[in-house]
Amino acid sequence: MAVAGTGVFADILDGEVYKYYADGEWRVSGSGKSVAIVNPTTRQTQYRVQACTQEEVNKVMDAAKVAQKAWARTPLWKRAELLHKAAAILKEHKAPIAECLVKEIAKPAKDAVSEVVRSGDLVSYTAEEGVRILGEGKLLVSDSFPGNERNKYCLSSKVPLGVVLAIPPFNYPVNLAVSKIGPALIAGNALVLKPPTQGAVAALHMVHCFHLAGFPKGLISCVTGKGSEIGDFLTMHPGVNCISFTGGDTGIAISKKAGMVPLQMELGGKDACIVLEDADLDLVTANIVKGGFSYSGQRCTAVKVVLIMESIADAVVEKVKAKLAKLKVGSPEDDSDITPVVTESSANFIEALVMDAKEKGATFCQEYRREGNLIWPLLLDHVRPDMRIAWEEPFGPVLPVIRINSVEEGIHHCNASNFGLQGCVFTKDINKAIMISDAMETGTVQINSAPARGPDHFPFQGLKDSGIGSQGITNSINMMTKIINDEYSMTKYQANLLWLGLERLVRCESVNRQDGDGDADADPRFVVVARLLGQHYPSNAPPATADRTEVIDD
Ligand code: NAP
Repeated sequence: MAVAGTGVFADILDGEVYKYYADGEWRVSGSGKSVAIVNPTTRQTQYRVQACTQEEVNKVMDAAKVAQKAWARTPLWKRAELLHKAAAILKEHKAPIAECLVKEIAKPAKDAVSEVVRSGDLVSYTAEEGVRILGEGKLLVSDSFPGNERNKYCLSSKVPLGVVLAIPPFNYPVNLAVSKIGPALIAGNALVLKPPTQGAVAALHMVHCFHLAGFPKGLISCVTGKGSEIGDFLTMHPGVNCISFTGGDTGIAISKKAGMVPLQMELGGKDACIVLEDADLDLVTANIVKGGFSYSGQRCTAVKVVLIMESIADAVVEKVKAKLAKLKVGSPEDDSDITPVVTESSANFIEALVMDAKEKGATFCQEYRREGNLIWPLLLDHVRPDMRIAWEEPFGPVLPVIRINSVEEGIHHCNASNFGLQGCVFTKDINKAIMISDAMETGTVQINSAPARGPDHFPFQGLKDSGIGSQGITNSINMMTKIINDEYSMTKYQANLLWLGLERLVRCESVNRQDGDGDADADPRFVVVARLLGQHYPSNAPPATADRTEVIDD
């Protein structure tokens, strides 16, 4: 049933229940309890995962702490090598992982495969980026600040935070897990993953790829269970040194409860699409349909409200209606455009927003239709600010259209939202586009295209209730490290000695590098400082072929 593809994943299954991953092993929880994962399409239980206990979480945290210490001392290139290996294994096993995504979260089959491949690429890119940015430090000299002499040096470098807790949401359970795992590991942290319940089995398969790559025991763990049951215990655990969370309002509650640890929060959005009179209406239409309805609107960066100038609204609404009529509605296995939303409670929530809009007089461009968790695409025209759907995130295939009479009205609506993830503006006038995007209070504004997360190395962030901090590979690596300084103060006498002896020290260092005998010809810190400051002073450093005797006898 649950295990597909090559069969390597049989290791992670105990009868009907998937095991959790701790201390380098797949384990059965002592709770004796499991959590059901209901297939959104069949509405039958598809998989089961362990309901981990608090005691098991404690053990995972202890093991992570021990493993992290050794991992932080593992050379950066070796950490990168293991990540590249995991990425390759992940891509090799895209089929069984994608199959889980289809069954657990009703992701269309092709998109499910793309998510896994993109995740492998993300892990590889993270390894490369980590090698680049973590291999560098910074040298500061004191005399740039008023009142200081050039007698103090600061060498700063990045060190890991310790144990990172990663909690991704259901809609990208693999990609949004590796976007936390990769940066945490390359930076020298240990990682504890709490996958979303819907998507947990795909995430466990992904973790198995890291297991097969051969990471040290305890460095990566994956504890399963309902967020509502083990979430608080995890996020308030004293062993956690950093939390990277992606999801909805739960993130706001976590931010209030978490202790003094760095937080990376990527939360909900109500991405506005502002359309001006001079826009290319076919381009607008294509982007509204793709942006609003891909994966049935279950994307943080989906277009969630269209703010369109009255004069072109009729034309665009007609075009969008025509395109929506052509979308394939059905099962994810058939690669339908619109598939069932993730849970029955999500479908009920979406329906409540639709009914509220109906009562308050919105125009239904299609008849509202729902079967189980499957909701047919619906465009609601003439939506007004007193309707819930004007502000709330349906996370489903329902899109409100608000007609506006001025650009200012559109910007005002966008900025009145408590969210500020992304937005977009459509116009042929680049000056207007830049002015509007500048005025929109969101983490990103796309010009003439729908909001989107990625490519994964781009910075990605939300303002207001949409998040704390910034994601994207480089930002995540930096966020999961702390800067430490190595400061060196010199007396005036020492400083003078340094300048006098600079040339000689530079030579000694050059020799050490050549002969590799490890002899300490000079205090290495002194040498580094001298070398980095060498540009300020005349240097007659010997040619690279100079041998030791020549230099010492000089
Ligand atoms: P969610 O309900 O907030 O759940 C997110 C994660 O939090 C899940 O793993 C969930 O586990 C866990 N969780 C639940 N209660 C918890 C608690 N008390 N403590 C710790 N963790 C807890 O969000 P979702 O429904 O999965 O995802 C949809 C939301 O995510 C939307 O609002 C969407 O906009 C947002 N999102 C944002 C981004 C972004 O980058 N900004 C990207 C994608 C999605 P269980 O599944 O076990 O409950």
